[in-house]
Amino acid sequence: MRVFYRSLRRSVIVYQQTRVAFCCAEMERQWGRLFSFGARDIVACTSRDVNLFVDRPQANGRTILELVPIQHCPFCGEAIETVREYRGQTRIVSRANRS
Ligand SMILES: [Zn+2]
Repeated sequence: MRVFYRSLRRSVIVYQQTRVAFCCAEMERQWGRLFSFGARDIVACTSRDVNLFVDRPQANGRTILELVPIQHCPFCGEAIETVREYRGQTRIVSRANRS
């Protein structure tokens, strides 16, 4: 599976998903619900991982969203690659060699 993203220069650098090549139908079905690139329901954020969403109850009755990075699809086991796109070209950035 590959998730493509680009960086946006704001007051801090944030990352925005551009397109996704899904590994399996179940991952596609749960994308945006159980996990996605970055955080749930926002267009761009400082995370450039594919994250599992965990709602953490707080003492005040609200919940906060915890992001847990995942490296493999939990359904089919395929590795998840994040691919940074530059204007007109792409460069594969694995977790091992990115800074
Ligand atoms: Zn899969």
